Amino acid sequence: MPKDTNQLHKKIANAIRKHGPISVAEYMGLAAEAYYKTQNPFGAGGDFTTAPEISQMFGELIGMWFADIWMRMGQPAAVKLIELGPGRGMLAADIMRTISGLPEFKRAVTLHLVETSPRLREIQADVLKDYQPQWYDRFQDVPEGFCLIVANEFFDALPVQQFVKTEQGLQERFVGYDEAQEAFFFSHPAEGIFETSPLSQTITRQISTRIADHGGAALIVDYGHAEPGLGETLQALSKHQYANPLENPGDYDITAHVDFSALKKSAEGYVDVVGPVTQGEFLRGLGIGVRAQTLCEKATDAQRRDIMSALQRLTAENEMGRLFKVMALIPKEAKIEVAGFNI
Ligand code: SAH
Repeated sequence: MPKDTNQLHKKIANAIRKHGPISVAEYMGLAAEAYYKTQNPFGAGGDFTTAPEISQMFGELIGMWFADIWMRMGQPAAVKLIELGPGRGMLAADIMRTISGLPEFKRAVTLHLVETSPRLREIQADVLKDYQPQWYDRFQDVPEGFCLIVANEFFDALPVQQFVKTEQGLQERFVGYDEAQEAFFFSHPAEGIFETSPLSQTITRQISTRIADHGGAALIVDYGHAEPGLGETLQALSKHQYANPLENPGDYDITAHVDFSALKKSAEGYVDVVGPVTQGEFLRGLGIGVRAQTLCEKATDAQRRDIMSALQRLTAENEMGRLFKVMALIPKEAKIEVAGFNI
């Protein structure tokens, strides 16, 4: 009896039948695109939880970080605040609410969202209706000008290519289709694999040249490693549990660790790279402890417990504090202090 496979499974299987195995990057790209198009992946009922979904403190501190950068860069009158992959719009909402307390900065800022998912655009439009955002499919479509860019858990969603060292030399890892099992399989086992993400490198270069040419700064936050690492990191999450990335493509969140050293290389010729430091170091450096205390003062007992548990999740070594990294890009001639990185 045929297995109960989803639409995208059938489509990819057909493509492989016709043209042969596809690269891991192509498979991941198709699965991620379908996933974000149809699913609302966030929160307790979804597949994963991100820092802005855990606590408002994350976006508030990033809002203050941007305000600080803007002041140190001479308070330009027109600022494009650009978020890559805004999800449900929580981070942008917390940043915009925070900078509302700084009228001059607020007046200078317009909000620009790079988002491919029509479904998430609708949610963002609702959450961010007070701030009249504009949407773009790609970063390079955002009009030029001084910009402050933030990307939280954006790069981990971009496709990775995988390579394996074999006796015949370097080979790319492919996804094939087993007709008898009605299942996808990898052309090579997981040992000795390394990954690259050409699209991540391209976007980093685009961000960097924009900042070099028009001024501004970028803040990249994601889970991953500071040094180039050997090993497969492609993973799928369903309802907060690991799942098989080759099953039900498009139904699970599919990601890979971000190689910060590769992003750094793509940026370095154009801008100064600050960090990466760990998310724990960054948030502590920006005073998350004090912010949590202030929030606790006006909170009920139950709220206080939530605030303290959010603080723990965002900063503790065994939670998001160490695995997540933060890296900033600033113009080469800027010569400014960047808050949160002096560890
Ligand atoms: N930053 C948010 C959501 C992260 S999930 C948060 O922290 O909660 C990844 C986001 O990137 C989603 O909004 C997804 O639709 C978007 N995305 C994924 N691939 C993309 C691409 N190639 N171009 C633009 N947006 C993309």
